[in-house]
Amino acid sequence: MVSSHFKSLLLELGISRERIEILESKGGIVEDEFEGIRYLRFKDSAGSLRRGTVVFDSHNIILGFPHIKRVVHLENGIKRVFKRKPFYVEEKVDGYNIRVAQIEGRVFAFTRGGFVCPFTTERIEDFVNMEFFKDYPNLVLCGEMAGPESPYLVEGPPYVKEDIEFFLFDIQEKKTGKSLTVEERLKIAEEYGIPSVEVFGVYDISKIDGLKELIERLSREKREGIVMKSPDMKKIVKYVTPYANVNDIKIGARIFFDLPHGYFMQRIKRLAFYLAEKRVQDEEFEKYARALGRALLEPFVESIWDVSAGEEIAEVFTVRVKHIETAYKMVSHFERLGLKIHIEDIEEMPQGYWRITFKRVYPDATREIRELWSGHAF
Ligand code: ATP
Repeated sequence: MVSSHFKSLLLELGISRERIEILESKGGIVEDEFEGIRYLRFKDSAGSLRRGTVVFDSHNIILGFPHIKRVVHLENGIKRVFKRKPFYVEEKVDGYNIRVAQIEGRVFAFTRGGFVCPFTTERIEDFVNMEFFKDYPNLVLCGEMAGPESPYLVEGPPYVKEDIEFFLFDIQEKKTGKSLTVEERLKIAEEYGIPSVEVFGVYDISKIDGLKELIERLSREKREGIVMKSPDMKKIVKYVTPYANVNDIKIGARIFFDLPHGYFMQRIKRLAFYLAEKRVQDEEFEKYARALGRALLEPFVESIWDVSAGEEIAEVFTVRVKHIETAYKMVSHFERLGLKIHIEDIEEMPQGYWRITFKRVYPDATREIRELWSGHAF
């Protein structure tokens, strides 16, 4: 149930009573609580309030992070989106999206879905200079948390060797969700020493060859891709490397039955467009064909063998926390996300950290494989 306090706030924001009722009955808005602070989370969008929006009070509204369109034909995509105009090219860091904002003197980190992430909220001060929020309480830092010790992803970018790191890529205003320009953001990041995604420079369509070379290099370096942004942040598109497409398939194939088929189809499509745009042939084509087949089949077959030997499909991952309670809060958070994750081990580390080992089991994938292996006809 959404309390009358939040309902009147939504009315003030121009959402009609009927719309509020529909949203509430469909579960499109959910009232939540984190350490005594109540907030409203938008699972669906409503007017200008994008999916993932978080509302505390009439000033503290953090808009959902917008969807970024993808181009699959790099050259034609750039021509269509930016015409002949210049755009910034940044690294697309492979991690999870986080919005960081100060509410009533406390800094919170929100996931894409609008949950307060207990882990990121606890760790964010390790990466971001909190002075920023004293000077700009009205701004929201949007960035990627990435590294091998992530609570949401199995892999991180190759250059984060341990733990996890924060990479800023956007600064938005509370309430409007309007982004600062790229220049303004880079200036603030420098001033406060906030770590950012790598900026490869300003390009335009005349530098397409250089950009294609950049994609080749990032792919070789096992990096995910690029995000291209007009200086005013009005036009933003992403493009991923062939490496990332194949690697995502490899990661996903182990839990084949837990993912929608579209997960694989989309990545195969992107890879096909890359191969076609570059006119990859002969030996290089063979190399990709083999890599794709192997990425799809090898982890899949291995997981069938695992289940046939009586094992469960599962993933083990570790994170570092400052308080053990944070690990327990993560377990409840995972439960609310519908994930089956439990704590396997807790180990004391130097400098006041605890290493928590979690195990995520995939009951659907396990059951499905078990049934098929045992000869079920369908
Ligand atoms: P979408 O965000 O487009 O709805 P999605 O959730 O599947 O799709 P991705 O395809 O991974 O996300 O790409 C978008 C995400 O990339 C952003 O939400 C953000 O978390 C992440 N990202 C990493 N680096 C950047 C960057 N430099 N600029 C913008 N986003 C970035």
